[in-house]
Amino acid sequence: MGQAQPDMFLEALSNGPTLAFKDMAMQLLGNLFEYELARRGEALNIFGATSGDTGSAAEYAMRGKKGVRVFMTSPNGRMSPFQQAQMFSLLDENIHNIAIEGVFDDCQDIVKAVSNDLDFKRQYKIGTVNSINWARLLAQVVYYFAGYFQATQSNDQKASFTVPSGNFGNVCAGHVARMMGLPIDRLVVATNENDVLDEFFRTGIYRVRGTADTHETSSPSMDISKASNFERFVFDLLGRDAVQTKAIFGEGLSRQGFFDLSGDPRFAQAATTYGFDSGRSTHADRLKTIQQVFANYGVMIDTHTADGVKVAKEYLKPQVPMIVLETALPIKFAATIVEALGRQPERPPQFEGIEALPKRVQVMKADVDLVKAYIQQHCD
Ligand SMILES: *Cc1c(COP(=O)(O)O)cnc(C)c1O
Repeated sequence: MGQAQPDMFLEALSNGPTLAFKDMAMQLLGNLFEYELARRGEALNIFGATSGDTGSAAEYAMRGKKGVRVFMTSPNGRMSPFQQAQMFSLLDENIHNIAIEGVFDDCQDIVKAVSNDLDFKRQYKIGTVNSINWARLLAQVVYYFAGYFQATQSNDQKASFTVPSGNFGNVCAGHVARMMGLPIDRLVVATNENDVLDEFFRTGIYRVRGTADTHETSSPSMDISKASNFERFVFDLLGRDAVQTKAIFGEGLSRQGFFDLSGDPRFAQAATTYGFDSGRSTHADRLKTIQQVFANYGVMIDTHTADGVKVAKEYLKPQVPMIVLETALPIKFAATIVEALGRQPERPPQFEGIEALPKRVQVMKADVDLVKAYIQQHCD
């Protein structure tokens, strides 16, 4: 673990093949899939949409795995040059990159349309590896135990965690670790300008945003309009009342676009029983935080980790180590690092020159039928 300031630690989680924390859980999943598919004599075609991190972590986890193919759509020309080089330089036969002429939402619409075509899904054994995947969440629980043991000297001590959050997957694993008995003091949810979660923990109101209200920020892996794992925590908050949880997430959300627990006495337990706090940051905060951490400690942090450090500072307590989960390395988001520091981020040696490697990618119009035809062709 590195140090961001005397009482704050950075838990390094981003040294996997795609330089984001998602790698560790995804790598486990790749091996589980291969094992279980072989045991059942089955095959699986993973189909998804990515704006960067998730898709490449999935591809690096599944490359060369028997019984698994990946078909990953991404918006053509919209990922960072580094991210494009990472994904498209994978030449494994079971990995298919499809660059859609459109934006990320066009990719997601195609995935939804295919998911709704049950016959097609069944015939071509289509599955996903999205952030509600329970195996991914389970693997992430380990981060909290590992961080706790490194930052404390005895089991009587508590530690707090700040987690740069989007879909509430990583911090939900922290909640699970706490429920398992890990002595966590506070779990701090850090968001960027897309502050759906911060708003909930401050007010008790969960208000999902429309696509038009979702900001494109310099910590893009946290640009979400609703947090797909959040229901898991609310279920606990409501005393595991499945009927009420279903009601507020189902009809409540789809009819009015929000639910309001501010008047419910159980809402206070989010902060008390479960120890949650939250905060948000802006582009200017990220620049300043990246500058400060670099000037004081000589450590370059990425934009998402910067959201975490900024918010963590608001919740420091004497005697309680604060651990910020590092979620990516700065090289993935070089443009903002240059803006903050006036220099290029460090590039791990294995990534020297990847922009020049041969690429395999299929550019395609945003047309469901074309994508389906491509999958059909490559499934036999
Ligand atoms: C996915 C991701 C996040 C958000 O994690 P969630 O589990 O969706 O809350 C934060 N930072 C980076 C770099 C990511 O890739």
